[in-house]
Amino acid sequence: MQDEPIDPFNGDPTDPAAELEDLGDDAETEPLTDAERQDVLEDLSDLEIYQALLSPTGIRGLVIECEDCHEPHYFDWDLLRGNLRHLLSSGRPRVHEPAYDPDPDHYVTWEYARGYADGVHDTLTEGTDDAE
Ligand SMILES: [Zn+2]
Repeated sequence: MQDEPIDPFNGDPTDPAAELEDLGDDAETEPLTDAERQDVLEDLSDLEIYQALLSPTGIRGLVIECEDCHEPHYFDWDLLRGNLRHLLSSGRPRVHEPAYDPDPDHYVTWEYARGYADGVHDTLTEGTDDAE
């Protein structure tokens, strides 16, 4: 039945032609490692907490110092969530879509948000002690 010559590279991962294909569109996309995925998932859950705590105080999102252009970028909560989900699904960050004409007064850093959340948590747990 098999009259045609067998391609010696057929199905071989070292096939030079296959390698050329791999250098195409996918060249810049590296899947996240499990640790990186975990980090992003933790950021997403932190984000939910920060938004719940801070948005009632007038905070609209977070400011992030950009590693590429060394300028602060302002991200609304929804934008941050979208960026993190994009990172999860594509393996690539999408940091250069900051909020348009933001008011810096309405944005805080991750560190501030984390400290705020810790403070609230401490207050709640201290409330169970004999705090006069
Ligand atoms: Zn930037």
